[in-house]
Amino acid sequence: MPDDFPLITLLGEEEMTMAKSMKCAIGTRTVSVDDAIEMRDNAKKRKLDYPDFQCPECGKSVRPHCAGGNACAHFEHLSRNPNCRLSDPAR
Ligand SMILES: [Zn+2]
Repeated sequence: MPDDFPLITLLGEEEMTMAKSMKCAIGTRTVSVDDAIEMRDNAKKRKLDYPDFQCPECGKSVRPHCAGGNACAHFEHLSRNPNCRLSDPAR
């Protein structure tokens, strides 16, 4: 797979095994982390409710994190779920 391949647009079983979560679910919709950050900022600006982002694997609440340092934008579980492949490993 070439380096510049847009990972977010093609989240197959293979990509799901990667440590960081790049997608989340809102109800039955799936959104990318970039969209989620935009929605969150929008909600903040308009004083709307914080969108309920959920892990597509385990359904627990997740929070989008912007890219920073060496990290790409990704989702983190509000509380770590050791049973979920998309949850951050223990640090
Ligand atoms: Zn999860």
